[in-house]
Amino acid sequence: MARVELKQVHKTYPGGVVAVDAVDLLIEDREFVVLVGPSGCGKSTTLRLVAGLEEITSGEISIDGRVVNRVPPRDRDIAMVFQSYALYPHMSVRQNLAFGLQRRSRHRSRLRRLLSPAYRAAHAEEQQAVEQRIAHAAAMLGLEDLLERKPGALSGGQRQRVAVGRAIVRDPKAFLFDEPLSNLDAKLRVEMRGEIKRMHREMQATTIYVTHDQEEAMTLGDRLVVMKDGVIQQVGSPREVYRHPANRFVASFVGTPPMNFFAGPIVADLFSDSPAGAVLGVRPDALRPLSADEGEYVHIEAELLHVENLGDRRDLILRHPQCEQLVCRTAAAGEWQEGDLVTLEIDPTALHYFSAEGVGARIEP
Ligand code: ADP
Repeated sequence: MARVELKQVHKTYPGGVVAVDAVDLLIEDREFVVLVGPSGCGKSTTLRLVAGLEEITSGEISIDGRVVNRVPPRDRDIAMVFQSYALYPHMSVRQNLAFGLQRRSRHRSRLRRLLSPAYRAAHAEEQQAVEQRIAHAAAMLGLEDLLERKPGALSGGQRQRVAVGRAIVRDPKAFLFDEPLSNLDAKLRVEMRGEIKRMHREMQATTIYVTHDQEEAMTLGDRLVVMKDGVIQQVGSPREVYRHPANRFVASFVGTPPMNFFAGPIVADLFSDSPAGAVLGVRPDALRPLSADEGEYVHIEAELLHVENLGDRRDLILRHPQCEQLVCRTAAAGEWQEGDLVTLEIDPTALHYFSAEGVGARIEP
């Protein structure tokens, strides 16, 4: 198992694109860390630097205390699972799973073809160990009945499972996942998330997982690393990142629909103690539509632009003088018409304040 540490890691690609900028990150043994952020924020590059698939421009990466800057990928004892499954189409699932392992033993056997029976016995033992690892991975991922099939005869989800299995059989120090579920449909994605989570619980292996999907990040990670423009914005548990976003970017990136922002105080008497010039953040579910006779609550009024029906809930899309597009997510039954002035109660315990300057750093009032 492994502890992975990045110290002041920079990556500039030829041509001058700064993909990773001064990244400091310590990933503890057995931890499940998710790198999350919009496309182009540098999360894949960070992962590839850890894997050794890209060379770092400056800084230091260590695995279990050993600096690996100059260690080739194959010697880092890390297994990576990509978005594209990269399975060998002419091989069965079993052969795909065995491939990395057998290549090592084949190499040795060629060198020692004529060696003693003792060696051959050891070789047979190794083969048996390979078989055992395959059986174990297949059982963990529900692939037992598919071992003799070729990838062409598998569904997308099954192929991705084989790709994960191939990482498992290597018994690596750490698993790296690069958007492994992006090619799957929504239902399968949720299913595979569950399997990856279960696999992590079972194997307790250090895992670094890259996704642009904040919901996937929230459901999988022990900790999230939110990135933007190559820079880490916040590191924290899903709960911390959701409840105490470090800046406006994190606040709007994490959570669906995104947080609403109001320029300046919106209800003078309640928010008079709010920091001067601050931007006020309110999540869509911290707003509640009030009926006419509930007037005593702290409220604002906003014009309804339209309603998005989600089945059990609805998103009211509204306009307010200090917030161009305001979203309220509600399970309340109510008849609303476009153009209505809707009264919204604000949960005063669920307010966030951010600086109006720079990255919009969080302000604790
Ligand atoms: P993400 O995984 O968050 O989508 P990447 O790490 O792939 O982001 O990319 C970060 C930045 O580096 C982007 O601006 C991207 O265009 C650039 N980039 C990625 N790979 C290369 C490359 N091989 N050569 C040049 N620029 C690259």
